Amino acid sequence: MKTYYLRIHEKDNVAIAIHAISKGTDLGSGIVTKSEIPQGHKLALVDIPKDGPVYRYGVVLGYALSDIQSGEWINENSLRLPIPPDLENMQYGVNIVDRLPKAPVTTFEGYPCGPDGYAGTRNILAIHTTVQCVTGVLNVAVKRIKEELLPKYPNVDGVVPINHAYGCGVAIDAPQAKIPIRALQNLIWNPNFGGEIMCVALGCEKLTADKLLGEYNTPENVVVLQECHGFAAMIDAIMMMAEKKLAKLDKRRRVTLPLSRLCIGMQCGGSDAFSGVTANPSAGYAADMLVQAGATVMFSEVTEVRDGVHLIGERCTNERVCKKLAGEMRWYDSYLQNGCVDRSANPTPGNKKGGLSNIMEKAMGSIAKSGTSPIVEVLSPAERPTQHGMIYAATPASDIVCGPCQLSSGITLQVFMPGRGTPYGLAAAPVIKVCSRTDMKDQWPDLIDINAGPIATGDATIEEIGTKLFEEIIAVASGKKESYAEKYRLHNDYCIFNPAPIT
Ligand code: CA
Repeated sequence: MKTYYLRIHEKDNVAIAIHAISKGTDLGSGIVTKSEIPQGHKLALVDIPKDGPVYRYGVVLGYALSDIQSGEWINENSLRLPIPPDLENMQYGVNIVDRLPKAPVTTFEGYPCGPDGYAGTRNILAIHTTVQCVTGVLNVAVKRIKEELLPKYPNVDGVVPINHAYGCGVAIDAPQAKIPIRALQNLIWNPNFGGEIMCVALGCEKLTADKLLGEYNTPENVVVLQECHGFAAMIDAIMMMAEKKLAKLDKRRRVTLPLSRLCIGMQCGGSDAFSGVTANPSAGYAADMLVQAGATVMFSEVTEVRDGVHLIGERCTNERVCKKLAGEMRWYDSYLQNGCVDRSANPTPGNKKGGLSNIMEKAMGSIAKSGTSPIVEVLSPAERPTQHGMIYAATPASDIVCGPCQLSSGITLQVFMPGRGTPYGLAAAPVIKVCSRTDMKDQWPDLIDINAGPIATGDATIEEIGTKLFEEIIAVASGKKESYAEKYRLHNDYCIFNPAPIT
């Protein structure tokens, strides 16, 4: 008999439609659809009484708002959200997996960056800024640097201006200002930038070059526009400094390094009901392989893990890590509360159209990309890691904010699950896209790097796609391959996370 639906856990009383199913279709076991079920949406496998629990992934997604009959469509209007997990008494260390899938290779070709630090996957000149006011001038200069200077330095992959919306007109001493400031400070040390520091400042901003760079605020590293005599002099000063930095970066060479020198990030966006069944578990499998070989993998997105946070807590290796996890969740709960919203504000119309009824369902799918590895550290937004392994880096779930936060934490490559489709990319690191459905790959064949869709139809396994993704990560990290986002230069802006007031 044809397989119409996908059930994940034996406890589940709902399943998702692999393709759209028409009304009145006999699905076997006495289940007949009561209406059309859109692709990826849930249908009831049994009668569920009003207030009865609805299970997917073996967990309660929510409670039925009215009686639901077997074969009925279940969507965002059918469920009441469960209470989020308690943060006070989270268990830790009770689900520590020590048998991870063995990585087929244990090295990659990277750019060393400091004796013990993580290595770069690219060799990029980053030009940092203290404030948005300098963006116009810097962009003109960068265009000329790319045209006139970059061709002379073939070992440098690109020039990236770090334009952002912070730096002035902000309450710089507000307690939460530490987040955007830390993000900009730590980004400087992203291994893809090779430790070369260049910054363009204005001269009267609140985020001074001193505050951003500390001891590295020297005439060799900083161009101050208010000290230049006119526009042409500004461009000349920036180009002269850029040429010196490019000459140094051009000497960098890739060498074979252990995977312990690789740090990557995982993120999803525009998720659908298949994300948690195909793409994210494949990413989780690749992540486990990387961790097994000594690499560091970060996953993030607070509102998308909040409802399954107890599952992350169980994997924390010690109490300190688990307490920090709870602290980050608590901080975000209150951040949302101050804005008079809660986590239910997360799912987008697209998520719901894709079959995700609520944040609980989205969270279960989202967590799947972290695999099963023990969680060795939790980072506040944009902090740098001190441990190797699977790390939870707390960030907003917003794609364009999570990406920059992870870059500041030091990722040199990101794996992105685009769900219903987003052409997202980062300027400072390659982004590999893994789609959840074969229709998505068919629609965007030249934007999706890996298709995890065949898992839904039983034509591939999570292990197969996960291993393929692992190999893709190594190839892209080693510079042997470009992802589509990199090839087309699809670069989202450096959107900073600033929870502090703007004045
Ligand atoms: Ca996201």
